[in-house]
Amino acid sequence: MTVQWFPGHMAKARRQIQEKLKLVDIVYELLDARIPYSSSNPMMNEIIKHKPKLIILNKADIADATVTQQWVNYFKQQNQPVITVDALHQNAIKQIVEASKEILKEKFEKEKAKGLRPRPIRAMILGIPNVGKSTLTNNLAKRKAAQTGDRPGVTKAQQWIKVEKELELLDTPGVLWPKFEDQRVGYNLAVTGAIKDTILHLDDIILYALDYLINNYPERLIERYHLSGEFDDKVAVLEEIGRKRGFLQSGGYVDYDKVYEILLREIRGLKLGRLSFERPIDIKKED
Ligand code: GDP
Repeated sequence: MTVQWFPGHMAKARRQIQEKLKLVDIVYELLDARIPYSSSNPMMNEIIKHKPKLIILNKADIADATVTQQWVNYFKQQNQPVITVDALHQNAIKQIVEASKEILKEKFEKEKAKGLRPRPIRAMILGIPNVGKSTLTNNLAKRKAAQTGDRPGVTKAQQWIKVEKELELLDTPGVLWPKFEDQRVGYNLAVTGAIKDTILHLDDIILYALDYLINNYPERLIERYHLSGEFDDKVAVLEEIGRKRGFLQSGGYVDYDKVYEILLREIRGLKLGRLSFERPIDIKKED
């Protein structure tokens, strides 16, 4: 699933998206609620310019609800409209239609005042891979997603999904590249499963994740792995987890590979509860 992004790809993606932008009133920037900063494209605002934007924090069902609320406040403080959704399990139509109407209220009132006929809002989804663009599209399409373009002889023109009387969505989401420069971003994308584990070393990903958990969710680690709570030395913590779980090799040595594998699987499998890997305060520190 992982795609290598080269400068040529980025320029092409950007061009294609800017063409489509001409057709829409509003952009939905889809982010992973667990890592809103790490799952954003570094040039989003530059690409969409002054087009109104709604930030949609997806996967809210698996993010830490308290932290998600901090993110909502963070965006609202910047006058950036934001909603949280769970596109996999929950119908998101009502929330998205309501938020879009609110953002475009003035524009549509102006059109009305000029005597223009009422029309649906037109929107497109944008985001980096794995944030849930296809899932949200299907969710909004209520399964009758536009498939009409594949017949031979039919130009694959823009297809619109009629979400509601008041909203039409471009059927293909715009795919943008993730941030590359920031190592922390790479680890966040890896921990949440957005990029393949093989791109970064598994032990580095685990040490990064463990450090975040120790600093932000120590009690969950203690409870899950029956730890002593001595967290000064991360390797010692891995060893303790390995011993508690009985992941031992001959000679009684801890099988660290097994510890890495289980820890990552259990983090992703919500065995430590709903986790977020980024808080607004982490971003502010960097800025
Ligand atoms: P895209 O690459 O942006 O189109 O992302 P996909 O729609 O393919 O979703 C990536 C993965 O995230 C899939 O395994 C989805 O099932 C999962 N996913 C998408 N939305 C949600 C959500 O709201 N909650 C949860 N728990 N998983 C989601």
